Amino acid sequence: MREQIIGLITPTMAVVFILVFLVLWNRGKMGNYVLAFAASYLFFCIGFAATHLLDTSTLYIFHVTQFFYTLSTVSALWGLATRVGQPPYLGVHLTIYGLSAATLAIAVVMSSDIAPRLIIVNTGYGAMYLIGVMTLLGAHQREAIDKLIIAAQALLGAQFLIRPVLTLLVESSIAADAYRESIYYSVVNLSLSLISLVAAMVLVGACVYDQIKAVRERAEMDMLTGLRTRRAFEQDVVAQIEKAKLEGIPVSLVVADIDHFKSVNDVWGHQVGDKAIAAFGHVIEDTIRDTDIAGRIGGEEFCVLAWNCDGEAAVAMAERIRKRLGATQVEGMPDDHRLTASFGVAGRKEGEGYGKLFARTDAALYKAKQEGRNRTLADGEDKGRSASVTQLVPNSSDLRAKA
Ligand code: GH3
Ligand code: MG
Ligand code: MG
Repeated sequence: MREQIIGLITPTMAVVFILVFLVLWNRGKMGNYVLAFAASYLFFCIGFAATHLLDTSTLYIFHVTQFFYTLSTVSALWGLATRVGQPPYLGVHLTIYGLSAATLAIAVVMSSDIAPRLIIVNTGYGAMYLIGVMTLLGAHQREAIDKLIIAAQALLGAQFLIRPVLTLLVESSIAADAYRESIYYSVVNLSLSLISLVAAMVLVGACVYDQIKAVRERAEMDMLTGLRTRRAFEQDVVAQIEKAKLEGIPVSLVVADIDHFKSVNDVWGHQVGDKAIAAFGHVIEDTIRDTDIAGRIGGEEFCVLAWNCDGEAAVAMAERIRKRLGATQVEGMPDDHRLTASFGVAGRKEGEGYGKLFARTDAALYKAKQEGRNRTLADGEDKGRSASVTQLVPNSSDLRAKA
């Protein structure tokens, strides 16, 4: 009776999870790793049903369950590795399966005792999970949900590796026809069901987490440049400045605005204007460091918080951006035309928050514009860096003549 209940509840749960993963994949337009999770629970369900329904005295039953449990394991591990951009090592898993299946075939022929068969198949699954967990541990970024996944997978792997030992300790030999009545069978299938349930809930949690993260990132990203929107930028910068205050790390702000941008729109049209904005965004992204924060805070206005960087180094960074922009060809603009931009820079002063820092930086940008544009001006400076790139967008009537 107890056996029938486990036999029914587990596949039912598996079917519910298959449906949940399919809905998440389809409706949430999620990656194929979610489909792999669905496949994993489908194969698990088939394997579990085979264990419970097939005649245990038939020779091939262990091959059948091993085949489907392996497919289930490999699908889940493929999905988990792919999710974090790690290699799935399918060849290694296939080799483990091959070795394990061959050894199993010998054990089946040699003895009617089930214990050696259980030891062989379980060691195989355990080895696969061990490799899976090591792969996940090798991923660069690890958030709380990733740690939870690793813990659940390690638990799954551990129970497969502990099983052979338990088998030997509790029942040193199990006859095929007494398999379903054995203590091993009840304990192991119950523990497998419980741990698989926990693992499935963690995987669903991971999918929901990924989905929320993707939606949030989309909302915080400026579609034209791929940089942060003004709101996301300000939120992140306020948090980083707090961190800088606590840790005593110097930070500086750079505000940049494309020169005579109205003329770009007027002469070559709004679409080319958009391409120019995107090009400037890419130049910024390519020039700054990973630890810096960049955002598009207005139409053609950008802002960068330079981390661990004093005012002087930030001026050098702004100059690098300005020169690279001067060397960038914007699609739709004639070859001899280059976009220029003006930059304001300020290093954060003791006790200063984002508001005051931005005001000083913006004032420096205003001055740079007044001084003739295409230059970088630091807060408190009167003269900016020389405009090594000649400004090529003087006025729109000039350009219209050229266009
Ligand atoms: P200045 O050198 O003083 O900065 O002159 P400017 O012409 O660049 O002046 P301003 O910065 O005030 O111009 C901003 C222009 O940018 C006005 C607006 O038409 C244009 N703009 C704002 N957002 C977008 C956008 O998303 N796409 C395009 N193509 N143009 C935009
Ligand atoms: Mg402008
Ligand atoms: Mg502007």
